[in-house]
Amino acid sequence: MKAIQYTTIGAEPEVTEIEKPSPGPGEVLLKVTAAGVCHSDDFIMNLPEDQYVYGLPLTLGHEGAGTVVEVGAGVSGIDIGTNVVVYGPWGCGTCWHCSRGEENYCSRASELGITPPGLGSPGALAEYMIVDSPRHLVPIGDLDPVATVPLTDAGLTPYHAIKRSLHKLRGGSTAVVIGTGGLGHVAIQLLRHLSPARVVALDVNDEKLQFAREVGAHEAVLSDKSAVENVRAITGSEGAALVLDFVGYQPTIDIAMGVAGVASDVTIVGIGDFIAHAKVGFGQSPYEAAVTSPYWGSRSELIELIDLAHQGVFDIAVERFTLDDGVEAYRRLAAGTLRGRAVIVP
Ligand code: NAD
Ligand code: ZN
Ligand code: ZN
Repeated sequence: MKAIQYTTIGAEPEVTEIEKPSPGPGEVLLKVTAAGVCHSDDFIMNLPEDQYVYGLPLTLGHEGAGTVVEVGAGVSGIDIGTNVVVYGPWGCGTCWHCSRGEENYCSRASELGITPPGLGSPGALAEYMIVDSPRHLVPIGDLDPVATVPLTDAGLTPYHAIKRSLHKLRGGSTAVVIGTGGLGHVAIQLLRHLSPARVVALDVNDEKLQFAREVGAHEAVLSDKSAVENVRAITGSEGAALVLDFVGYQPTIDIAMGVAGVASDVTIVGIGDFIAHAKVGFGQSPYEAAVTSPYWGSRSELIELIDLAHQGVFDIAVERFTLDDGVEAYRRLAAGTLRGRAVIVP
């Protein structure tokens, strides 16, 4: 079968021909119907060899949708032919966090060598993929897999980040979204649906700001040297109640801290360069502002998102690619020219 794999440190991913997998005990085989391309893929492919821990060759793709075509020994409760999306942050299933469905925070995954598809385990950028357990599948019924697959990360990650701060978003408050790409454009829609807050989006050019307005931002502001001043002109002296940074480099973290209000949440989702950081302390950050960096989301949150999708809440912007032109999707992602999410349709 065809796949897109990262094979050589520092090189572009490539289209390869690999053996079709078959499900072992407890596993499920999906015929992939759609797979999303995430900026985190670009991040790991830019890591130097001594920091790269995901194995080579790596079949990419941690956002996956597919149809169940075969199940391994002992698998029950999921029918052949079911259309599903894949919950990506696989955990052990039995630790305290996993027992709550928060497998993204599994305390034993690294000790047990459990890795997400596309980030250690073979991912969704292939004609078929193995899912390690049926509990990592969420049926999507008649939803379009291409428009739905971004919800597994570009939706789930902002959903988790926003839900934990919803109590701070009241009428008259402001939520700031920095970076309106794959994750950011879903974050804007979630904020509009879940809260009464005014949503202010930041990105680097007019086209992206126009896109942010189209998906629901009340205001869109250039992410430049005057950004703090320009956002503060909108929020007034109160500042923002929630800032979501989907970039995570020093300039955006500085903007995030600069627009944050007293007792706000500053939530750094973007991976940036792994060096950038927020300054927290008296005189350096607003009183009681809480800075956090969450990872992905829980199984129950993905189920909730699929329910919201059935209600027609989302207008996910997707640019389609085939496996053959999937490498181009990564070039466009790196160049910052995608509108929403790139989705590969095998
Ligand atoms: P993307 O490339 O689709 O979107 C990034 C957006 O940020 C683009 O619109 C880009 O123009 C904009 N941007 C770049 N520099 C900017 C700046 N200085 N100011 C404002 N906007 C700027 O990326 P994505 O797939 O949405 O991922 C976003 C980030 O989130 C990445 O760093 C990714 O690795 C990370 N991520 C984290 C998690 C997690 O669990 N924490 C999960 C998924 C992705
Ligand atoms: Zn991702
Ligand atoms: Zn666990």
